[in-house]
Order: sequence, then structure tokens, then C-alpha cells
Amino acid sequence: MPKIYFTPGPSQLYFTVQEHLRRALREDIPSISHRSTKFQNIYAEAVDNISALLNLPSGYKILFTASATEAWERIIQNLVERESFHLVNGAFSARFHEISQQLGRTALSAEAAEGSVVEMSSLLIPESTELIAITHNETSTGARQPEKDVESIRKAFPNQLIALDVVSSVPDAEINYNHVDTAYFSVQKAFGLPAGLGVWIVNDRCIEKSAQLQESGTITGSYHSISAMLEKAVKNQTPETPNVLGIYLLGRVAGDMLEKGLDQIRRETAYKSAMLYHTYENHPRLRAFVTNPEQRSRTTTVAHVDSGSPELISYLSSRGFIVGSGYGKYKSDHIRIANFPTHSKEQIEMLADYLSAWKQ
Ligand SMILES: *Cc1c(COP(=O)(O)O)cnc(C)c1O
Repeated sequence: MPKIYFTPGPSQLYFTVQEHLRRALREDIPSISHRSTKFQNIYAEAVDNISALLNLPSGYKILFTASATEAWERIIQNLVERESFHLVNGAFSARFHEISQQLGRTALSAEAAEGSVVEMSSLLIPESTELIAITHNETSTGARQPEKDVESIRKAFPNQLIALDVVSSVPDAEINYNHVDTAYFSVQKAFGLPAGLGVWIVNDRCIEKSAQLQESGTITGSYHSISAMLEKAVKNQTPETPNVLGIYLLGRVAGDMLEKGLDQIRRETAYKSAMLYHTYENHPRLRAFVTNPEQRSRTTTVAHVDSGSPELISYLSSRGFIVGSGYGKYKSDHIRIANFPTHSKEQIEMLADYLSAWKQ
């Protein structure tokens, strides 16, 4: 039986990936030199398509890392000399906070209960903070920081750098990147690509800050400091031998998404997520883990299962529908269902039907 992965990363491949992979093999993409013109064109296509898809302001640079986890470390090394501040509401936002500590910085935080987000009214950030880290979509709990909060933080803290984790929410996320200095994602979530590539976006303020740190003797990294990456990026290259196939596939899939149109992708995402939350709310054994509808993720829906989630997960799995278990301590209490651009309306409708039919 063919399986469909609704896991929130890695997930079902975007439906055009097979065709792009076949073409990549025919064209020997995995064997070409990363110093060749052919690679430079692949790099430029990926950067152009991502910039267009996210509607990045001019001057924002796109850099390639191995993962979003790597972006966390690079952001601290390049943009924080002493102190970072983190909005923490789940496992991923907590991990970024911890990485800042591991790198010897003073990492402050505002914490919210899992399944919710930090409220703007209770947010106190010291002026001494250099960088404020926000997670748009906390994939471990399905809580989404409303986009307008990013704007409020920008207005209140014009001197601080703002880092936004958009790992599991792009391209659906309606972010005005003018309010953000750096953002990052990895490709195995909503882009529906094989894991092993991260995208790190930085603006001029980040480039300046990193140069300042370097001048004052702070170690900003070696091959993946912002300056080392930019030196190659202007030539459409990377310092190391990169994930050439991953960059190729990303460029192609971002192109497909542009062609489909972001409005259409967002409309479908909204429709499908409404259907999933409706199903949770109308099932006697399920409820949405995030209680405030304004804080519910559209791309990672999380339901609490009254009798425990393993039985439901295996019921769905026997029908070819692979959904995520709960994250960490919620492993056996939650199901997490990704609602990414590759998941069609028909697939989500079928999944909702199976959910509704379970134990009713
Ligand atoms: C998955 C995820 C990460 C980490 O991504 P990796 O590709 O594993 O490095 C970071 N933040 C969020 C919100 C995620 O969902």
C-alpha cells in the first residue's frame, strides 16, 4: 500500500520531486563540480526563487547551511557578543536558547506554557540584549506566534536584531521580512524535500554586526562565518562542497510553488487546517492541544488523544496514513499532523474521514 507521510518533517516529498530527481540524475547533477558554471546557475536559480517566493526585501542575502540547527549556532556566533533573548514555548525554541548558553552567551528567556505563545503584554526584554529569537511555528506543540507580534517586537526594540525561526511555516507564513533581520528554515519540512539543507537569510544589519564582532576579536566561525559565506555567495558558490542535489531540488520546487502561486498555497493551507481542527473538535476523544485559535499553527496541527495516541497512530498507519507522534514528553498523548503544500485537499479530507471514523 502506498504510504502518505503527514509527519512534520521529514514529510511527504513535494509531488514534483520525483520528476526533478530523475532529471537531476540524467543531467549528472550529483557529480558536477561545485566550482562549475552549471552549479553557479543552480545556486542562482535557488536563491532567486526563494527570494521571490518569500518576497524578501532587496539586500537580504540567502546562505546555505546543513540544517536549521546549524543556523542556530551560526546566528549566535555571528550576531551575539554577550546576550541573546529567547521566546521559549516548546522543544525547538528551548534548543536555540540552550545553544546560546552552550556557546557561552548570556541567554535570557521569556517562557510560555507548551501549547501557547509568549504574550506581548508580559514581554520584558532588557535594552542590553543584542538579539531577540522568535519561533514562528513551534513544531513540537503546534503553537504559532501571531505574525503581528513580530511587528510589535520590531517597533518596541528597533536597536536589537530579530531572528525568526520559520522552519515549519514557510512558505505559508505571511511574514513581512522588513521586520526581521535574520530568518532560517530547513527543507525537509514544508518544502517537502529530502533532509540535509538549511536556508539562512541575513540582512545588512547582520552583515555589519558580524563584521564588528570579527574586528573586536570574537570568533564568528571559520568556513561558515557570515563573511566567509558571503565571499563565495557573491559568486554563487559556497565555501565547502555543498549539498548540490539539495540546492538543485530546492530551486526547482520553489519554482513550482511560485508557478502555483503563493495565494493559492495559502488558501489551500487555510482550508485544510480548518478541516483538521474541525475534526479534532468534533471527535469525543480528540481535542486541539493549542486552545487559543489565534495561536494555532496552520502547518503543524497537534491533537491531544484522550486514550493515548499509539493506537490511533497504528490505526492510521495500517491505512497508509503516517502521522507524527507527540514530541518529547507528549509522545504517547498527542498526534502531530503536518499540513504542508504537498498534502492535497483530497488527502487531508480522507485523513479527516479516517479520524472521524475512529472509535465513534
Ligand atoms: C525541525 C525544526 C528545527 C530543526 O531543524 P533541523 O533541520 O533538524 O536542524 C528547528 N526549528 C523548528 C521550529 C523545527 O521544526
